[in-house]
Amino acid sequence: MRVSKLFMATQREIPSDAEIPSHQLMLRAGLMRKVASGIYSFMPMGYKAFRNVEKVIREEMDKAGAQELIMPAVLPAEVYQASGRWEKFGPEMFRLLDRGGRQFCLGPTHEEPFTEAVRDTIRSYKQLPVTLYQIQHKYRDEKRPRFGVMRSREFVMKDAYSFDADEAGLDASYDAMYKAYCNTFDRLGLDYIIVDADSGAMGGSGSQEFMVKSIVGEDAICYCSSCNYAANEEKAYTNPPAPATDYEMLPVEKIHTPNVKTIEELMAYMNTEPTSFAKTILYNIDGKIVACMVRGDREINETKLGNLYDATEMSLAAFDDVERITGAKVGFAGPVDLKEKIDVVVDPEVLAMTNFVVGANESDYHFKNINVGRDFEPTIVKDVKNVVEGDACPKCGKPLSMCRGVEVGHIFKLGTKYSKALNCVFLDKDGKENPMIMGCYGIGVGRTLAAVIEQYNDEDGIKWPVSVAPYKAIVIPTKVNDEENMALAEEIYTKLQEAGIEVLIDDRNERPGVKFKDSDLIGIPVRITVGRRASERVVEVKMRATGEVSEITAEEAIKVAIDLK
Ligand code: ATP
Ligand code: MG
Repeated sequence: MRVSKLFMATQREIPSDAEIPSHQLMLRAGLMRKVASGIYSFMPMGYKAFRNVEKVIREEMDKAGAQELIMPAVLPAEVYQASGRWEKFGPEMFRLLDRGGRQFCLGPTHEEPFTEAVRDTIRSYKQLPVTLYQIQHKYRDEKRPRFGVMRSREFVMKDAYSFDADEAGLDASYDAMYKAYCNTFDRLGLDYIIVDADSGAMGGSGSQEFMVKSIVGEDAICYCSSCNYAANEEKAYTNPPAPATDYEMLPVEKIHTPNVKTIEELMAYMNTEPTSFAKTILYNIDGKIVACMVRGDREINETKLGNLYDATEMSLAAFDDVERITGAKVGFAGPVDLKEKIDVVVDPEVLAMTNFVVGANESDYHFKNINVGRDFEPTIVKDVKNVVEGDACPKCGKPLSMCRGVEVGHIFKLGTKYSKALNCVFLDKDGKENPMIMGCYGIGVGRTLAAVIEQYNDEDGIKWPVSVAPYKAIVIPTKVNDEENMALAEEIYTKLQEAGIEVLIDDRNERPGVKFKDSDLIGIPVRITVGRRASERVVEVKMRATGEVSEITAEEAIKVAIDLK
């Protein structure tokens, strides 16, 4: 491809609305364009890189025995109504009406249509197992689209679904996908970790996420450097201390704590530690008000709490709800003397606390010497807190570490949730009808591409790994008006093309400095500069990954580009 003809515009300035390196670089290198919030077009160079990611994914899926098909993005409401997800997706689902007033949506994920397709095709255990996949656009009206294609509202996902006759079959199908994911992300050159993920909201028995470590990641990952434990924040836990027994319960005291708003102020006022205080926070979970208690130094993990109630929408309870239920201003909620009966969800760590402080459900007052069992009963005891750096690893007891990550892939043992809801059954050896056992497996193609850039860049631009690079080599003649110079450049370009190498020639009448800057920005792995030694057939080769420069013959340079792995 001739750069003079390339449909592309690079940009020197950092776009103001792009916060992270991959997003900035994708815009600066002209790989994509924003059309609306969270909606992007890929330009030719970007789309080439995008298709390279797709290619690796597709090859690994095929190798693992999964079969590719394609489903529509526009799907009738009934498909999602049978599983209950028409309501469950809430505002994240893009919905539309056809001219006859029939409801449709733009598919956010395709468990239901795949389940229907398999239900209508497979009758017998002899036709199982089967794993199907597609690489297709998904639509989610994300609350906060950000970071370009990392979190967009229209994005391409490779989604696969496995159907098995029994749990052992599911384990094998899941394993095959696990390995295919490892191969995929290895080939893309990503540094990733595999973490245990929460499977609560989707139902099902197990789930893992493939996380690319990155400071810009939206997910917090908790891992142990001593053993192999790794989990995302929604799943990570630490074993709680044993519940307190056999101690003296002191009489409850009501303490006047005027103008005390924060835990720090309260602790200073009462001369005690946050670990002697249990905070109570009221949430509105799909319209139901629930109180949640964790130790004073802890944070509530809203996903853990929401999963307990299979929540679609949750938020902190409104001020007037808090005031009605506690009978106090916000800031004085506690589990004792609530004015209405509501669920009190208690983190197990609170059961180990003795004679602790809570809000008194009366403005400007707290209770001291509260004890679980004597003063209140939890409705539910469940781990609902965030783990923090230094908490004990639940597997080996050593201190846990935290880092940030970008979730590029997710594999999931679904079980029979969708097959039961949609009656996707098969006849077993004895002629008995059983629901199929399902797994689902997703990779975000655009997010993965962005994650590659996030891990492969420097101050000059992108440094594509060879597997993703839109072009492997770029030939730069320094003087396009010099016949000898241009002839050698054209010769190298043609030979590389003939060898099947994706190659660019920067035939623009621009200063070499401008061409070098652009080639660094777009990150082509091998740069072959034809300059002052063209008459000797000597060129300069610069490797983008290492910055290594060598002066070698044109033939040697061609070999470098061809041999590039
Ligand atoms: P997240 O927690 O980041 O919203 P998710 O759990 O909703 O992700 P899945 O439903 O498991 O994601 O989707 C499978 C894959 O699709 C994810 O691992 C991710 O790579 C990709 N993906 C999900 N949402 C988006 C999005 N809004 N933009 C781009 N890629 C996405
Ligand atoms: Mg999501």
